[in-house]
Amino acid sequence: MLNSYKKTSLVTIFIFTLIHGIALLAAYRYFSLEGMVLLVVTHALFCMSITVVYHRYLTHASFKAGPIMRFIMVTVANLAGEGAPLGWVTVHRDHHLHSDEPGKDPHTPDDGFWWSHMFWMTRRLPKDEWTLLCRHHSPKLCKDRYITFLSKTYIVWHIAAAFLFYWAGRFYAGHEMGMSFLIYGFFFRTMLVWHTTWLINSGTHIFGSRTYNTKGKDHSGNSLIIALITYGEGWHRNHHYDPTNARAGFLWYQIDMSYWVILCMKKMHLIYDVNDKIPAPPES
Ligand SMILES: [Zn+2]
Ligand SMILES: [Zn+2]
Repeated sequence: MLNSYKKTSLVTIFIFTLIHGIALLAAYRYFSLEGMVLLVVTHALFCMSITVVYHRYLTHASFKAGPIMRFIMVTVANLAGEGAPLGWVTVHRDHHLHSDEPGKDPHTPDDGFWWSHMFWMTRRLPKDEWTLLCRHHSPKLCKDRYITFLSKTYIVWHIAAAFLFYWAGRFYAGHEMGMSFLIYGFFFRTMLVWHTTWLINSGTHIFGSRTYNTKGKDHSGNSLIIALITYGEGWHRNHHYDPTNARAGFLWYQIDMSYWVILCMKKMHLIYDVNDKIPAPPES
């Protein structure tokens, strides 16, 4: 259980400060139209790598993929800035098991909005307890050599990605554009991806309608506004009701962009065995 967070993670606090600081301080100086386009495209790509790959695929197994597609999807999602897959999946499974239970849910807004939004990540478990938790919640992933390799090399991938953004912009139109690509494609984008996806932990457990009955103390809700911001994850009550469903939006008006991506990949035969059967309507 993650309720026994014991230590402060200075590394997390440093990374949060670094990304927010550089993104906000340099955004005006290095603004460019190309940088903005890059921001919009990479924001969509990396947000949905979290919602589709980390969340609906790795955590809840709502569809299957062959080894090459799995490798591509996991590699992209690992670059979203949300931690390596093993830790993400473990925490999220812990959240589903203990949704909004006092002292047990790793990020319930009952402990405060900002705690559930971001500050819960500034605490960490001792290494041996963390290893046990990963083995308990994610036994298969613990044995996956590529997944454990990503955990060990996580930061290297992000430093390489930052260089790649700079050099792509520089190659395209010189040093100023390189800096614009670095700021908007890496720093500002990471900050926005964070706050977009963090809103699922904070906002959807405060706002929205509670259409379905779910287990325990869970008070997740369905919110159109949050769904529009978070590529469909705002239909969070639906998701807690039927977590292994590839859809979060069950009804025609419940816009769910992440499911559209899953549907496209299914139609292109890139993935298979998609569990997208809409559950029975709630009892009246
Ligand atoms: Zn939740
Ligand atoms: Zn989930």
